[in-house]
Amino acid sequence: MKNVLVTGGAGYIGSHACKALRAAGFTPVTFDNLCTGWKDAVKFGPFEQGDLLDRARLDEVFAKYAPVAVMHFAALSQVGESMKEPGLYWRNNVGGSLCLIEAAVAAGCENFVFSSTCATYGEHDNVLLDETVEQHPINAYGASKRAIEDMLKDFEGANGLRHVIFRYFNVAGGDPDAEVGEFHRPETHLIPLMLDAIEGKRDALTIFGTDYETPDGTCIRDYVHVCDLVDAHVLGLRWLIDGKDSQVFNLGTGSGFSVREVIHHSNTVTNREVPYNEGPRRPGDCTKLVSGSTRAEKELGWTPTRSTMETMIADAWRWHQNGHYDK
Ligand code: UDP
Repeated sequence: MKNVLVTGGAGYIGSHACKALRAAGFTPVTFDNLCTGWKDAVKFGPFEQGDLLDRARLDEVFAKYAPVAVMHFAALSQVGESMKEPGLYWRNNVGGSLCLIEAAVAAGCENFVFSSTCATYGEHDNVLLDETVEQHPINAYGASKRAIEDMLKDFEGANGLRHVIFRYFNVAGGDPDAEVGEFHRPETHLIPLMLDAIEGKRDALTIFGTDYETPDGTCIRDYVHVCDLVDAHVLGLRWLIDGKDSQVFNLGTGSGFSVREVIHHSNTVTNREVPYNEGPRRPGDCTKLVSGSTRAEKELGWTPTRSTMETMIADAWRWHQNGHYDK
């Protein structure tokens, strides 16, 4: 079986990717420093603990497994934190990715699947975002991901490392079998925070900003189910293995939901009420991020099947009630 090096395989999206890779006949080798990931989430292949900034450790792992490709998820990913501690984002995300890319090139690994974000686009008044929209990130998280995209293009030119870049919209939901799920400590994402608040595991949710120029004043996002998202990664991997050219794909559904709409759907799915209050804007948040592209569907043959808001919340709720990890 072909090995795929999955950085961040102990995290939320990475662990779901490992499950999908395994089901597709690959062996996912998780490389993770466990700073935000969970050893318990590594269930579908070998685990190698290590830090992306540790080049010697990366070389060792590349030599041991000779992976056919890298799937690079490991990153710090909180918009709010990135505004307060930009150095963390430039060092870990950009510096760590540089070290990883150089190790991949040195090991002769030719295929690189990269987890980027719609946060690289920044503010674009009411435009649906496709892959050709100019990237002007307004937070350090988005800026760090954009820098890595640029880096990949340079390394392709110089070293022939081909890449597929996925720009994620808001990832939600969880494995329907609840073998893995979303579990961040601290948690900062809307849907798990709402479910915590419903269960009384934390205080009421605070809506970050009610004065945005949107119909109900709250930010609008495009939510995509994590299982659909990782299915696209397997298609992207095959795309590269088949020798196709580097490409960038948005991964979103094209439907926008405001924070208030997500609260409404959570109330319906759980048959409970999300307790919430209204607070100020969170620095770095864009008004609206919604995909306007069908490139992944057309070129990769991607067909999302679980990305309705009801299914995403129902899957998250099932995991939320039963699942958690211990280190
Ligand atoms: N949000 C909120 N309260 C929270 C967490 C998030 O109102 O406690 C909003 C946030 O401002 C954004 C949306 O929910 O508009 C999604 O935020 P999340 O942090 O889940 O993802 P992001 O869009 O930052 O990647």
